[in-house]
Amino acid sequence: NLVIGEGEILGYLYSKGIKPDGVQTLDKDMVKMICKEHDVEVLDVDPIKVEEMARKKEIFDEEDLDKLQDRPPVITIMGHVDHGKTTLLDYIQKSKVASSEAGGITQGIGAYKVQVPIDGKVQQCVFLDTPGHEAFGAMRARGARVTDIAIIVVAADDGIRPQTNEAIAHAKAAGVPMVVAINKIDKEGANAERVMQELSLIGLMPEDWGGDIPMVQVSALKGENIDDLLETVMLVAELQDLKANPDRSGKGTVIEAGLHKAKGPVATFIVQNGTLKVGDIVVCGEAFGKARALFDDGGNRVKEAGPSIPVQVIGLNHVPIAGDEFEVVDSLEIAREKAELRAESLRNERISAKAGDGKVTLSSLASAVSTGKLSGLDLHQLNIILKVDVQGSIEAVRQALQVLPQDNVTLKFLLQATGDISSSDIDLAVASKGIILGFNVRAPGSVKSYAENKGVEMRLYRVIYELIDDVRNAMEGLLEPVE
Ligand code: GDP
Repeated sequence: NLVIGEGEILGYLYSKGIKPDGVQTLDKDMVKMICKEHDVEVLDVDPIKVEEMARKKEIFDEEDLDKLQDRPPVITIMGHVDHGKTTLLDYIQKSKVASSEAGGITQGIGAYKVQVPIDGKVQQCVFLDTPGHEAFGAMRARGARVTDIAIIVVAADDGIRPQTNEAIAHAKAAGVPMVVAINKIDKEGANAERVMQELSLIGLMPEDWGGDIPMVQVSALKGENIDDLLETVMLVAELQDLKANPDRSGKGTVIEAGLHKAKGPVATFIVQNGTLKVGDIVVCGEAFGKARALFDDGGNRVKEAGPSIPVQVIGLNHVPIAGDEFEVVDSLEIAREKAELRAESLRNERISAKAGDGKVTLSSLASAVSTGKLSGLDLHQLNIILKVDVQGSIEAVRQALQVLPQDNVTLKFLLQATGDISSSDIDLAVASKGIILGFNVRAPGSVKSYAENKGVEMRLYRVIYELIDDVRNAMEGLLEPVE
């Protein structure tokens, strides 16, 4: 453990011509420079990243670490309505799924395996077949992290639209790498260059222009360049070094569930670590049971499913909810106990969310600032989801907020988009501990009560200065509680 003494730091600052006054805060670059001098690694602590890292650790145990093997990436397609998500999914499914080559029909279990030939070798990936950021956000709000890579579809004849922004915000907040599919290049009026320009303006710099976001021009309708897109996705996956230990009991996440007339409760699991086998006792959320049979994406009975592989499971006592975690346990008694514990903790969570415990609000921020209790409250950074009426308002509000002094609290915009507040905004706020600020927009009653149940603060304004004042006062610890 290396400790850098105060004297050394002061000395360094003097050597750079800075006369510290004893109470000033060093900016990030200065801290990095000092650490570099002393060979200390700097971890840029973004609360969202920390959360994601913690979750990754939850998936692996100590015993897994030396048995990790490569696993296929799990991919979600997101983007604005009508930009071609479903067409893309359909094309990939029809042309790349092994079972359809053999004349079989895919069964719609919620995800399917795709074979991608790369350098003469066939590699596998898995597509979730509910496109859109709504499903992605809802899963994340339940604490699930299944997607490894997001394909953001943008129509080349239409460009960035509100849901494109939302999709990007969700992927970013989850720390999921993106590949952009610029779609409909076959259409008259398609302008891929313009789409790339628009994307670069919101921080997604194309790889071709020296940035780090791969973008592939495709026609989902004609199947043009889809191989290219899939290869690009696999390259991004390779960089992520996706691993799991197949040689242990299975655990993962429910991605779809329902009640089947003949089979009873059915659920599709994506195994994230270990291998799930027929006969295993599983708990998922509040449901449990013995996996009496497993079906793959082609509707075939299978004996087991390893990491990243989707399987439909029958034998549960209830229908679980998408986003619930599942795990294999030793006996039905343990399964029952765990399911009951889970049900109870969910009840408590609901009660405390309603009561506003631990809720991130402008008032809680203000009182934390005024009492100097920022640390440990996730409040050093205020995560904002900004919804406004028209594009021009975004910059107006953003600029006014960004010039506020950020000494105690920094502002981070998770999403800035036009349109009324939706339940997927609430999901984003839950998953990333953010608040929602609306300017000249509305929230439907159902969204309001959803926010209340989830313990998310939503503030709606008609006057821009009131919005700015509230945030400034909160950051300075001066906001009067509204309740
Ligand atoms: P989604 O709402 O994002 O799932 O969009 P859809 O996949 O339903 O596509 C919306 C419309 O765009 C449909 O009429 C598709 O046939 C059409 N479409 C999708 N991809 C392409 C494409 O690459 N080229 C052209 N010309 N039309 C496309």
